[in-house]
Amino acid sequence: MGSREKLVMVRYGELFLKSESVKHHFIGMLLRNIGKALSASALSYHFETPRGRILIYGDQLEKIADIVSRIFGLVDVSICTRTSSVLDDICTEAISLASANLHAGMSFAVRAKRQQKTGLNSQELGTLIGSAIYDHIPDLKVDLDHPDYELFVEVRNFGGLVYDSRIAAPGGLPWGTQGRVLALLSSGIDSPVASWLMMKRGCEITHLHLDAGRWAGKDVTLAAIENHRRLSRWCTGNPLSMVIANSELLYDRMDQLRIPPRYRCVICKRFMQRVAGKLMEKEGALAVVTGENLGQVASQTLANLSVISEAVTVPVLRPLITYDKEETITLARMIGTFDAHPGDLACRAVPSMPATAAVLKTVTECEQKMGIDEIVATALSGVRFVTALNCGIVKES
Ligand code: ATP
Ligand code: MG
Repeated sequence: MGSREKLVMVRYGELFLKSESVKHHFIGMLLRNIGKALSASALSYHFETPRGRILIYGDQLEKIADIVSRIFGLVDVSICTRTSSVLDDICTEAISLASANLHAGMSFAVRAKRQQKTGLNSQELGTLIGSAIYDHIPDLKVDLDHPDYELFVEVRNFGGLVYDSRIAAPGGLPWGTQGRVLALLSSGIDSPVASWLMMKRGCEITHLHLDAGRWAGKDVTLAAIENHRRLSRWCTGNPLSMVIANSELLYDRMDQLRIPPRYRCVICKRFMQRVAGKLMEKEGALAVVTGENLGQVASQTLANLSVISEAVTVPVLRPLITYDKEETITLARMIGTFDAHPGDLACRAVPSMPATAAVLKTVTECEQKMGIDEIVATALSGVRFVTALNCGIVKES
């Protein structure tokens, strides 16, 4: 019998669509990100990169599979056995794997793929391996549509790969291929998901949180930091930065000057955009990201969103704009940020009846009266930084 070796095989998705040179660059980034994530977890490994796949060898394959299943750009991950290209070897391994999991009375399917264009085609190969399993384990049924058990076989130039599970990875593009964005991160459910979606599309992130001091519930900033910490699990090996600016003065001024309470939410969101806009250059960011969502709350009507965007000239990206709350919650649970830090998360400035169609002219008049530029400068004058790495806070200043 030929040699066998266990390994982790990963598949990448959309990169297939890229030109050869871009693909080469993106695969390089993928390998770098995988390498950083595994090294950060003190795992030893080495790679092989046959066409369309990345093979990872190492001692702790379950751990490696778990970590790489959170790498953006990958579609799925399998722990496989590599065999020789000899059909008997592949069949022996297929029977051995199936025997551990497939029992009398169950249905099964073999999904086979073959790289070479000569010899048996993929379907014939699947039938052949399927028959070998069928003869070996009594009382099985073949069901190609809804089998109880699936076994996958790939025959490639270098040998066979046999496996029976595919762990879903997030897809998207490799982290770091699309530039940096500044993501407004709150204590809520939406903004961590918005930030994650931008990471998924290959962006590096700087988080910005506005700490409203006595105007916010006592747990708000802690909860935002917890969201930040949890998101760093999705770029393991790469530090994730967060800037925290104090925004107490904004609400004090609105209160002192008796700005109509119904305008508070729009003025607050425009202020956040202004602070973000000023920080962008320093952080090397190309756009601002928010968790805003059409019609979710009074400040997020189309009319208000356009008044909010008007405060800055930079692109404002809102990845959740069309999401239903349930869709966002499902994603937040998967990401691990849902309910990250419950507690007193209330906003004490929110009015009972916020304007749903704020008039830009009135808003800008209020802002001038408040001295908005000075308030922005004050917020930026004493920022704090929190760096998260591998799901831990590593630096605060
Ligand atoms: P989320 O939308 O994140 O669940 P939320 O519901 O408390 O938080 P919204 O009033 O919906 O906040 O705010 C809309 C967006 O503004 C948020 O998605 C987030 O991007 C940003 N944002 C809100 N509060 C803050 C804050 N304190 N610091 C930074 N960004 C914030
Ligand atoms: Mg929200």
